[in-house]
Amino acid sequence: MRKIKPKTLIKLILPIFIFVIGLLVYVGYAEYKHTKDEAIRQASANVNLAKEYLEQHFSSAEAHLLLLERLWQYSGDTDHLIAAAQEMVDNQPKFLEVGVLVKGSFYATGGFQIVDAEEGVRQRPWFNADAAPGETYITPIYWSSSTEQWSVALVRVITVEGDHDARLILEVDADSLYENLSLLKTLNSGYVYAVEAQTGRIVMHPDPSRVGTPSVSVTPAMLQTIQDGHRSGYIGSYQYDGQLKFSVYDITPSYDWIVLSGTSVADLIKRTLSLGAVSAGLVGMIAILVLVGYITYRINLDGRHLNDVSTPSELTAHLLDMVNDLVTCNGITLLIHDAYNQEYESADGTIVITEKQVVVALKGELQRIRLVSPHEQAGFEHEIVQYQPCIRIPLTQKNQLIGLLYVHNVRFFFPLFAGIVQNYAQSALNHVMLSQRIQSKDAMTGLMNKVYLREQINHQLCRGSDCYYLAMIDIDDFKRINDTHGHLFGDQVILSIAGVLKDSFDQHSVVSRYGGEEFAVLLTVPNEQAVVQKLERLRKTIASTLIANGTKRCCITVSIGVAKVAENVEISIARADRVLYRAKAQGKNQLVYFRPELYAELSLMTQVEV
Ligand code: GH3
Ligand code: MG
Ligand code: MG
Repeated sequence: MRKIKPKTLIKLILPIFIFVIGLLVYVGYAEYKHTKDEAIRQASANVNLAKEYLEQHFSSAEAHLLLLERLWQYSGDTDHLIAAAQEMVDNQPKFLEVGVLVKGSFYATGGFQIVDAEEGVRQRPWFNADAAPGETYITPIYWSSSTEQWSVALVRVITVEGDHDARLILEVDADSLYENLSLLKTLNSGYVYAVEAQTGRIVMHPDPSRVGTPSVSVTPAMLQTIQDGHRSGYIGSYQYDGQLKFSVYDITPSYDWIVLSGTSVADLIKRTLSLGAVSAGLVGMIAILVLVGYITYRINLDGRHLNDVSTPSELTAHLLDMVNDLVTCNGITLLIHDAYNQEYESADGTIVITEKQVVVALKGELQRIRLVSPHEQAGFEHEIVQYQPCIRIPLTQKNQLIGLLYVHNVRFFFPLFAGIVQNYAQSALNHVMLSQRIQSKDAMTGLMNKVYLREQINHQLCRGSDCYYLAMIDIDDFKRINDTHGHLFGDQVILSIAGVLKDSFDQHSVVSRYGGEEFAVLLTVPNEQAVVQKLERLRKTIASTLIANGTKRCCITVSIGVAKVAENVEISIARADRVLYRAKAQGKNQLVYFRPELYAELSLMTQVEV
């Protein structure tokens, strides 16, 4: 597991996401199909039940009609028939009216009667001249003007007194048909309804205002299919009231009503989503959370390793590991601030840029470089970043730029990672700089040590700098001070001289304790006269300083050897040392400047000979 890098895991997020989406689509589709099959089964069962109910409803109405016929034949009295019918209508709310058409006159419940109305009655919607005696037929749906209700009527043709046809009419309330079927649902919002095949008008519907109106679902094409003998089937999709719907249908055997049941596609999707998507979504979320957790763990692990380093080259190597774990790139460059030289330098010393170069604003091709930190006031220009999609991460401490980290040729960049790398790199760089500072200093005086001095001499030689001078300063007769006043007082003398040295040179000079009672200063001045002048002033200052502690007091002097920094570190130190001894030999408390012509053997000296 340690081998899998966060950047690899980051790359997995997208495929996992796509996989989860794919899974979601598949589960959703499978669930949709399953739910649709279920809905169609449910709708078919509802249609069958409704068909059975309607058949029974009308056969019960027909039974009532036959009963009235028998009663009439038995008594032969129309008044008697209407009285019995009135009692039936009063007890059965689904029956609206009973009427009888006999010998041109029409008598009905509710005291309604028209005498000699043969022609008028023939216009009534329930009248069918073709019906034969002994036949019972059901009328198309019509608006009953007497009851003011949408009605269908059962009509029975009866032969009375040999040659005369009479008609017995039972008007049924179309609105009441749905009442007993309201519990038949398909999924959440599907319902059962019925359409007359003959007229295409709705005869039964949960919404009473739709009864009697033309149906949307029953199209002429569908009616044709029914006429062709397909008496049951499935209507794929049709638009009604802004909703996409589907239905199954079947035809009642006795009177050609199309009974339909189905639901909207929205209903189907709602059911599907609630079942499949939630679980698949949850699995995906958990997978992504686990991944993010592991990525965070790995980043923190890299960050902890970063805190163990103590040198710039170690820091650069560990940062490269961390960056490589996070992003795909062509490597990094870490430039660390060198306050003494006012430069930013890579750990291996191959890249050095001055503070002035850092403040050159971002222009032209460098636009692609991202400025990450608000602390950095200006842009930066250098050949290492030109023409490359490079991310620059400034490293700061208390708003001071202490380093610049370049991540080269980055692909798949996440700004979040720049922030993470910045945080860890900043604290690690601070740590490295602090430990370096401690290692370069002399513990007793706080001046720089010999190692640091040598590094800086080397640095200036590598850069080919001119006008750098090295002064070796040795306290005269220090052994005697120790012997006279003791080592503690001797220490105090060393500290006093260190203090004077610190005060005498600016930040561009390296003031170091070379060892014991010897000091060395690397300084830059325009020429020989200037260096001699400056160091003579120092020598006189020291000579005139009284060092005292209680009853102990003394004046001390120093001897100084100065040489121009040249050729290499050893030669430079040897030359300054040589003239220091010349100063001692000439009587101490004086300065001797190294002139190559006077010291032929040192002018020709090579590093090996030293
Ligand atoms: P010269 O003028 O030729 O330089 O004579 P000198 O006595 O200064 O030189 P020498 O090298 O003979 O003696 C230096 C002495 O400095 C020897 C050593 O004990 C003493 N010394 C070196 N380091 C310290 C230190 O840290 N504290 C004290 N008190 N003495 C030190
Ligand atoms: Mg000495
Ligand atoms: Mg000495």
